[in-house]
Amino acid sequence: MRTNITLACTECKERNYTSTKNKKNDPDRKELKKFCSRCKKHTVHKESK
Ligand SMILES: [Zn+2]
Repeated sequence: MRTNITLACTECKERNYTSTKNKKNDPDRKELKKFCSRCKKHTVHKESK
């Protein structure tokens, strides 16, 4: 039941991370603060398809 997701920087839209999530436990879009190598700082990364 785990689905692969991509985490994209909300500032430059670079897709920096991949993750998995359980759709049943986690139906909403994930938002995580992670380091973006293009912005060279921590930014919010949002789940994208
Ligand atoms: Zn970025």
